[in-house]
Amino acid sequence: MTGPRPASASLARVMQGDLCAGCGACAALAPGKVRMAMVPPGYLRPVQDAPLAAAEEAAIARTCPGLGQGVAAAGRTEAVLWGPYVSMQTGWATDPDLRFAGASGGGLSALLVHLLQAGRVDAVIQIAADPDQPIGNVTVVSTDAAGVRAAAGSRYAPSAPLDGLPARVADGRRYAVVGKPCDAAALRAMRDADPALAAAVPVILSFFCAGVPSQAGGRAVLAALDADPARVTAFRYRGMGWPGRATARLDDGSDRSMTYHDSWGKILSRHVQHRCKICADGTGVAADLVCADAWESDAEGYPRFEEVPGVSLIVARTALGAELLEAARAAGAIKTAPFDVADLAAIQPGQRDRRRALWARLAALRLAGRPVPHYTGLQIAAAARQNPVGRNIRNFIGTLRRTFRPRPAR
Ligand SMILES: Cc1cc2nc3c(=O)[nH]c(=O)nc-3n(C[C@H](O)[C@H](O)[C@H](O)COP(=O)(O)OP(=O)(O)OC[C@H]3O[C@@H](n4cnc5c(N)ncnc54)[C@H](O)[C@@H]3O)c2cc1C
Ligand code: SF4
Ligand code: SF4
Repeated sequence: MTGPRPASASLARVMQGDLCAGCGACAALAPGKVRMAMVPPGYLRPVQDAPLAAAEEAAIARTCPGLGQGVAAAGRTEAVLWGPYVSMQTGWATDPDLRFAGASGGGLSALLVHLLQAGRVDAVIQIAADPDQPIGNVTVVSTDAAGVRAAAGSRYAPSAPLDGLPARVADGRRYAVVGKPCDAAALRAMRDADPALAAAVPVILSFFCAGVPSQAGGRAVLAALDADPARVTAFRYRGMGWPGRATARLDDGSDRSMTYHDSWGKILSRHVQHRCKICADGTGVAADLVCADAWESDAEGYPRFEEVPGVSLIVARTALGAELLEAARAAGAIKTAPFDVADLAAIQPGQRDRRRALWARLAALRLAGRPVPHYTGLQIAAAARQNPVGRNIRNFIGTLRRTFRPRPAR
């Protein structure tokens, strides 16, 4: 956090523990007093400009995913590593253009287009490339298929889709919101406390999330592509194929690109924020529907192919999500195929290993006196029991060592 020491006890705790996920919920809950700003090395963080009312402080305390997050199975099928769900299958957009543009099979985009065309929502709040700074993100409102298509693809950069949300949805329209799992958790908490918001945002979509890199990560990708940021007119991190190449378009119309393995594996993953390394929910337990990569992967989680037609894993987390997916399938917007949950750990090794390591990492941080998020119902101990003892010890010592290592100057 920049500026003077924050007066908010909640925000102070988040900043002390470097626990901010950058969702923007605190700015939404205290408009005019808290705003989101880009801070070095390129993360979105809250800046507090004025003291908070007690009600605003309490709302942030019960919403902020940096402070905590919980889930209840409530009768749904529950998998230790993957959380509660109603159904799990694979699928892809039947529109070949949307399937190609999407990060994986265009599953999220196909669902969004269906929601709009079936009149289930009037508009979608989602993330797209910032036209003024193509490695960055902006929050956009899409009302038709062309808008959703323009925002398709994963963007491995900070996003705060909840910033300004209550004002944005106060126009009487019904919205679907797409966000990271932490955004989805904060939004569900906001909806639980605000019936008007729940009515305005009936649908929450999310995706599996390994973590958000800082904008320094995006800049490093440009540097590796030898692409002068001043000459970049468009940039995509993924999409246009599966997995799709990170591609910078220059002002002379030429493209420079690198593989997903090089962009995510060698650069972006090294710029991920601290909160993501101790994330108990990278799989969107608070959303209605969640998509992910359903690829056959190597031990590190990279696809075993160069480029093939995309396939999304589609997890319905709620009865509403299952019903929406079935309606999209019946309307011909999406095709689905069966998927066995037993195969998920092998295709998502990063998510699997982070879940299993979490108990040890949190224990090390607690021992070091560092604040950690308060997680409930997320099966952290059960996941740790799947970790061999030696590995738990290595995870514990590794975190402890990193905690006491001097932080690089920013
Ligand atoms: C930071 C990040 C980490 C990820 N980690 C994993 C992972 O560990 N495992 C895995 O299987 N998949 C991961 N994904 C998701 C994966 O890349 C695909 O998004 C997912 O498979 C859905 O693909 P799709 O074709 O169905 O989505 P698309 O049809 O391409 O739709 C993508 C949607 O995500 C939204 N979006 C894109 N970037 C952001 C962002 N930064 N913040 C909020 N919304 C955004 C877009 O607006 C769009 O609505 C990650 C994505 C991101 C952005
Ligand atoms: S995690 Fe979200 S709510 Fe919490 S401080 Fe960061 S931006 Fe605000
Ligand atoms: S890893 Fe977790 S905390 Fe980090 S951006 Fe993804 S969902 Fe949010």
